[in-house]
Amino acid sequence: MIKLHDKYFKPYITAKQIEKAIDAMVAKMANDFATEVPVFVGVLNGSFMFVSDFVKKYPYPCEVTFIKLASYEGVKSTEDIQRLVGLTQDVSGRTVIVLEDIIDTGNTLVEIHRIFENAHVKTLKIATLFYKPQAYKKDYKIHYTGVDIADKFIVGYGLDYNNLGRNLPEIYQIKETQHMTNLVLFGPPGAGKGTQANFLKEKYNLVHISTGDVFRYNIKNETALGVLAKSYIDKGALVPDQVTIDMLNAEVEKNADANGFIFDGFPRTNAQAKALDALMDEKDSQINAMIALEVEDEILVGRLLERGKTSGRADDADETVIRNRIKVYYDETAILKDYYTAQNKYHGVDGVGSIEAITERLSTVIDKL
Ligand code: AMP
Repeated sequence: MIKLHDKYFKPYITAKQIEKAIDAMVAKMANDFATEVPVFVGVLNGSFMFVSDFVKKYPYPCEVTFIKLASYEGVKSTEDIQRLVGLTQDVSGRTVIVLEDIIDTGNTLVEIHRIFENAHVKTLKIATLFYKPQAYKKDYKIHYTGVDIADKFIVGYGLDYNNLGRNLPEIYQIKETQHMTNLVLFGPPGAGKGTQANFLKEKYNLVHISTGDVFRYNIKNETALGVLAKSYIDKGALVPDQVTIDMLNAEVEKNADANGFIFDGFPRTNAQAKALDALMDEKDSQINAMIALEVEDEILVGRLLERGKTSGRADDADETVIRNRIKVYYDETAILKDYYTAQNKYHGVDGVGSIEAITERLSTVIDKL
């Protein structure tokens, strides 16, 4: 991640990907204009890197010139576009290819078409390295595009944010800080995560995702995922990481507009914790805290056996399976305490007492975040 002025940007398109896109554009145009000498017209300032790399790769004779247009101030396209200046060359009767670094709303194209209107060119073609299909609002044809990108502000490779970032050899995308609260509710089986999550999701308007519940739903409905997960769950073992991570990602995506999430029973391994960080990062967000309910083993066994009388869960009914689930927690999951402690995000809470008292303790931690 990088910071330019007051904003953060994350890597988006690598130098290699840019080069590949330019190679493809060069190949197409070399094929289309091999029999003539085209005039490539770069639009400054943003296109200087693109034009430079493009013409170095262009295999046939060509002319290169620039026009200048300042269309951006900060991150928003300004409505009153400044005029294009600098077309001093006579291009009448020529094939002109405008090389743009980026086309978003298409406002610049209006100005480009205006200045070439009376220039009596043979053909005017428009090429852009980056193109935002969701933002483009004009009818002008764009003849060559490099990479289609999301409608988010980018910098690098000639493009700037208030004059910074032009020199970066790759493209970065703005990080929009989403004000989400994302909690990992942690603790061994029987610690009370599900019970507490039900109260906290109401209180803080968060979406509760319990991977155990999602697996049980799939088992009940006999889906392929359910059949696979059952063989592990019945023994009290963990379902393989990739299966669990894919499922979790899908659950998060289903709730794209959430204020935040309570993750219950996830992550349970280092690989899952890393995958969760990556997922949060993709959403320009992060895990705010891991809150762990701390309860002694013998109390856990007692609680789970008690719950087994009514929960209908096979893995709550058998003491051997229960003890194995607790062992798996200490062997494979408890290490995550270190993972979140290292990020100053671990909060231990006494998980013994009345349900209300424990909700209070958890709320005290959350309110301070
Ligand atoms: P729980 O409802 O959280 O106690 O989970 C019940 C069972 O589902 C666990 O014993 C595992 O077999 C499986 N499971 C739930 N969450 C995960 C996870 N994050 N990774 C792997 N297995 C999981």
